[in-house]
Amino acid sequence: RTGDTDQRTGDALDVLRRVFGYDSFRGEQREIIDQLVGGGDALVLMPTGGGKSLCYQIPALVRDGVAVVVSPLIALMQDQVDALTTLGVRAGFLNSTQDFEARRLVETAFLAGDLDLLYLAPEALRSESVLRLLDRGSIALFAIDEAHCVAQWGHDFRPDYLALSMLHERWPSVPRIALTATATPDTHTEIAARLNLKDARHFVASFDRPNIQYRIVPKREPKKQLLDLLRTEHPGDAGIVYCLSRASVEKTAEFLVQNGVPALPYHAGLDASTRAANQQRFLREDGLVMVATIAFGMGIDKPDVRFVAHLDLPKSIEGYYQETGRAGRDGLPSTAWLAYGLSDVVQQRKLIEGSDGDLARRRVLGAHLDAMLALCETVRCRRVQLLAYFGQQAEPCGNCDTCLTPPESWDGTVAAQKLLSTVLRLHRERDQRFGAGQSIDILLGRQTDKVSQHRHDQLSVFGIGTELTESEWRGVVRQLLAQGLLAVEGDYGTLVLTDASGDVLGKRREVMMRREAPRAASTGRTAKP
Ligand code: ADP
Ligand code: ZN
Repeated sequence: RTGDTDQRTGDALDVLRRVFGYDSFRGEQREIIDQLVGGGDALVLMPTGGGKSLCYQIPALVRDGVAVVVSPLIALMQDQVDALTTLGVRAGFLNSTQDFEARRLVETAFLAGDLDLLYLAPEALRSESVLRLLDRGSIALFAIDEAHCVAQWGHDFRPDYLALSMLHERWPSVPRIALTATATPDTHTEIAARLNLKDARHFVASFDRPNIQYRIVPKREPKKQLLDLLRTEHPGDAGIVYCLSRASVEKTAEFLVQNGVPALPYHAGLDASTRAANQQRFLREDGLVMVATIAFGMGIDKPDVRFVAHLDLPKSIEGYYQETGRAGRDGLPSTAWLAYGLSDVVQQRKLIEGSDGDLARRRVLGAHLDAMLALCETVRCRRVQLLAYFGQQAEPCGNCDTCLTPPESWDGTVAAQKLLSTVLRLHRERDQRFGAGQSIDILLGRQTDKVSQHRHDQLSVFGIGTELTESEWRGVVRQLLAQGLLAVEGDYGTLVLTDASGDVLGKRREVMMRREAPRAASTGRTAKP
């Protein structure tokens, strides 16, 4: 038995060197490969760039038969197959983009045993003809990539993934490996349960990306803030800028180009050939900035992305982690920079309320957003908070904005009470609901048209908040939202109290807040001694 394993490990190392041209395994690759080669199941949590592909590609070559790889990234299958073919590995794919003839060729190769790997889209496994095809061939293993897509309460649920539990029922003796680069402890458990991986060995790598410097700043003039960042810290560097909408992608790319930064747009509204051309240029040329919606980036393997900038708030920490994870795959220092403001919170809540999921789904989306907001407003090390979300512990990192320039925290209890009682009075005394702007105008005692029109200058809270500036009040609102002490509703982002608001109003709860760093105190690498 031991001799057996040694023999196999020898094979695996030999394949690593001969086929892939690498000297040694990384992290737990070797243990994972042994587990599969020995016929066992594996569940692998490893960050982007950790080397997940080899974990199934090497067993595919060591074991008899064809490895079937399930992946939702249809657009990347051709690239993956091409890359393997270049190495002399026999690979093919079946998905909806193919014509009949291309399909037939792959099917014939599969049945003749002339393939090492076969990539499939999850929906393909719903087709009886594909299942019958697999029955007639010899299968070395099943690899389920992006396995978090099976988690219903995760951030990227895909219903087609639920059917993958059938693999084990139909082919009980074929080993399976499920892989993901983002999983909270809950998602981890859900993957194991839904894919029926009860005997699988779990391999959980650290999610820390020490070379990435995390920074989250209040949004003022986002495009200008971005340009400052690129000019001072990343001149000539390749990077990705994420925006929420197609329109802001276009505008931001134009703005960068006008200011001498070579930038390209990427979003689902561009035709396929423009998208492909822009992606190719980004991969091949040096120092290009890709301005994109989150449609861009899945499976993009560009090692020298020096920064990932977000001009809008990501919907979840999983999304933020995945997107920022595209920076610095080569291990060199890189920046993850996010600008966020109150309007982001309002906009995201609106998107959630307008989404077509049921109430339970909207709650999940809300919880994801709350965790993201808590990361933005934390006074702790960003990395500690990020890793804690994925169930991993860490020490303060010394390489994030809060470590480099510790934010002052201040006792915002009185400010919170003033703001919450303004919202309460508008509601109780006037049966009115307004957005943050009106409450702030009232607290600052501003005689705007809207204030006069609604006689808000008659409220007892009018003008009681002049000790803070408007931007500080916006910070107060953001932090109350992040801490669940206030909520926004509806199309106009009206403020409403939550169950927890009462504790603050009733003086049973203190509220500590993060003081916004003054504009000049940037925490860039260039600012370090
Ligand atoms: P993931 O899928 O986890 O994001 P990949 O499988 O794409 O990561 O691997 C990331 C990069 O690391 C790839 O360029 C890959 O070739 C390289 N790599 C993986 N394993 C090793 C290894 N043992 N030695 C050297 N390079 C490796
Ligand atoms: Zn830190």
